Amino acid sequence: MTEKRPDVLIVGAGVIGCSIAHALVRRGAAVTVLERDYPGAVTSRASAGMLVPTAEGLPAGPMLNLAVQSLRLYPTLAETLREESGVDVEYSACGVLVPAFGDQAAQALKTRLSPDNPALQWLPRAVALEREPLLNPTLLGALFHPSEGQVNPAKLVEALTQAAARMGAAFHYGVAVDGLVRHGGRVAGVRTGSSEWHAGATVLAAGAWSGALSRWAGVPLDIQPVRGQVVSLRCVPQPLRTVVFGQPGYLVPRRDGTLLVGATQEWTGFENRATAGNTRMLLESAKRLLPALDSATFLDTWSGLRPASPDEQPVLGPVPGLDGLAVATGHFRNGVLLAPVTGELLAAYLLRGTAAPLKPFGVERFLGKKKR
Ligand SMILES: Cc1cc2nc3c(=O)[nH]c(=O)nc-3n(C[C@H](O)[C@H](O)[C@H](O)COP(=O)(O)OP(=O)(O)OC[C@H]3O[C@@H](n4cnc5c(N)ncnc54)[C@H](O)[C@@H]3O)c2cc1C
Repeated sequence: MTEKRPDVLIVGAGVIGCSIAHALVRRGAAVTVLERDYPGAVTSRASAGMLVPTAEGLPAGPMLNLAVQSLRLYPTLAETLREESGVDVEYSACGVLVPAFGDQAAQALKTRLSPDNPALQWLPRAVALEREPLLNPTLLGALFHPSEGQVNPAKLVEALTQAAARMGAAFHYGVAVDGLVRHGGRVAGVRTGSSEWHAGATVLAAGAWSGALSRWAGVPLDIQPVRGQVVSLRCVPQPLRTVVFGQPGYLVPRRDGTLLVGATQEWTGFENRATAGNTRMLLESAKRLLPALDSATFLDTWSGLRPASPDEQPVLGPVPGLDGLAVATGHFRNGVLLAPVTGELLAAYLLRGTAAPLKPFGVERFLGKKKR
């Protein structure tokens, strides 16, 4: 191998690795991304692409702030990516409705209303049905956020890789990283078989596999795979304008007329497959939200593996005691939502040493804790 020494080497071309590569290369860094499969192969392309911090019910604090900050980056990022790559990532602030079908659910949802989030509204039944006339009419009302929405994750990964590649980032696919190159307390790059790739800094962004990779660093992160399955339907005409986030189950109306029905949340290890039982369960929960769905055309079903840390929040930034290594993983249910801000924060840290915004998400919070 002719040796190149990029400023930054990124392991994993999911939405997180690609977003970091894009943010870095726009600031002039030399970046190489190593991916054992193809971009977004397992999880990022499987995502439903919702950008819905409110519907996720994230508690007030650093995680909600991070999610809101990332959501705000989307309009500009989508425009930038269209100019840089020619790919439309189908970002849409289509709004999100969280319907309540009982008094208890309605009361619980109303507690999320806050002066800190003035755009969030409670819609009484008639107003919710005016907005989405085909929703199950037995709902009592719905929480509505007008500016949350969705993006097409497969297009997002495509746009990020193309834009970054045009600006000089090198992407190598079919390359599995199987070790770190260490010189004492410093990580100088990674190993793939008998090859070594050297870089000023190395970032582990390997999604659900980041735990295994971090063991090489001697900092075993507890990152677990959490399987999620989605079903896609075709409905003519598209029955919804808004993302509908039920409890359980959600519906995401895509621009091309497909309707995504998601998603399971299963602790089944690295077994990534869609099952008949999950398909049935998802279709039943979808029908409870939108009774007219019985006549929809069944298109497809698939699954992916969300990377979950013990507190289900991302793990971002330097690895204590090991210079030259950073991690960006554990984005669990919100990796697509959090991709823009993760790219910005990691680029600021790697190029300028800005570490303070990463503090709440640092590796330190797990060090010395027992594995679950
Ligand atoms: C069904 C489903 C629905 C979802 N819906 C949403 C949603 O609506 N909104 C949202 O924000 N998020 C959603 N998510 C979560 C989101 O998809 C994830 O948080 C996000 O994709 C994680 O991105 P990642 O880049 O960390 O991981 P990945 O996409 O898994 O990328 C990691 C990459 O690393 C590569 N890799 C691993 N090991 C190695 C190695 N040794 N060498 C080289 N490469 C390696 C893998 O091949 C992979 O391509 C959903 C997830 C699922 C499964």
